[in-house]
Amino acid sequence: MMHSTPEALKSVKIVDSHVHLSQWYEHGQNFIDSLRAYREENSLEALGVVCIPYMGQKVKRDVSQNIMAAILKWEDRNIYAFGGLVYPTEPVSLPFPEALRPERQAQVMLDAGFDGIKMLEGKPNARRFLGLPLCSPAYDAYYALLERHRVHIIWHVADPAQFWDPKQVSQQVIDAGWYYGGGGFLSREALYAEILEVLRKFPLLKVTFAHFLFLEDDPEEAARVLDEYPNVCFDLTPHWRMYVSFTNKHDLWRDFFNKYADRLILGTDNVSGYDPARMKKQIDFVRRFIGTGDIMALAGGQGLQGLNLDPDVAEKICSKNFLNRCGQSPRSMDKMVLYDYINSMLPYVAAGELRDQIVRYVKEKLM
Ligand SMILES: [Zn+2]
Repeated sequence: MMHSTPEALKSVKIVDSHVHLSQWYEHGQNFIDSLRAYREENSLEALGVVCIPYMGQKVKRDVSQNIMAAILKWEDRNIYAFGGLVYPTEPVSLPFPEALRPERQAQVMLDAGFDGIKMLEGKPNARRFLGLPLCSPAYDAYYALLERHRVHIIWHVADPAQFWDPKQVSQQVIDAGWYYGGGGFLSREALYAEILEVLRKFPLLKVTFAHFLFLEDDPEEAARVLDEYPNVCFDLTPHWRMYVSFTNKHDLWRDFFNKYADRLILGTDNVSGYDPARMKKQIDFVRRFIGTGDIMALAGGQGLQGLNLDPDVAEKICSKNFLNRCGQSPRSMDKMVLYDYINSMLPYVAAGELRDQIVRYVKEKLM
């Protein structure tokens, strides 16, 4: 069922801070037009595009993710782009080749005009197959650089607790390669220990942990992380169980959201290749959950009740917090800089249709 924007939310500015890119063309539209339509049709101020060049062994991706995001920024002034690191081998073998040292890659992205960094390295499959602890000294210069420049990092660490439990994991999750109960995956606790080690060492890192850091069943720990690290935020990008927990302890979470109103950020996980109706459904769910008391459904969750936060609190979560962290408008992307950036990265793009599309784009638009 489709809903129009409720009255109470009409004046609340919305930024979707967590959107992904898929292919160049899907559903007969290129990714640039798809995301522009998504933004305009849903009255969003801006989008944060988070790149995941590495997605585990089943999905082959590369630095073309970052290149597509850079092109998107150049085409559309309402896009914040968060680039991801690429890794030459899996598992990582140290030392990194000079050109692919993490701090070097981050500097190249910042010089090109990216608005920040996305990390998927804390997702259990990525962490296992890359084989590099998140708190490895091999990342030290990289974290130091990001801390020094107050770069916004969107970081996926851990996954829903159920993905470790053979009794609770679904076939769909197993098929995706996200069952972590055996086979050399780190425990959730071990993953959390690694990032807390990073934060102890680099306490000024401006990290937003994706999906509420999967702490929806542990409000004390969520509060402790936010209290101890004042530069940390959580995004509210759904996995649906988060919203089940928020509903089950409605008063507790409403208080939590009010108390930490400056530390929570709206996101959806929408993907450029999704059908527009699916994208609308997702953004409507999240914004209504924040700003209304409506009863809704999301994926496996039924009867989810919105927190009905006051408009000023809702606006912080829906846009202000993100804009305060990432700049009131996206950094601009210069045509010559974009051209140089793409050319410097093309050697790392796998041969195929996407690479051809990028090369064609450079010839037609940037030369
Ligand atoms: Zn995501």
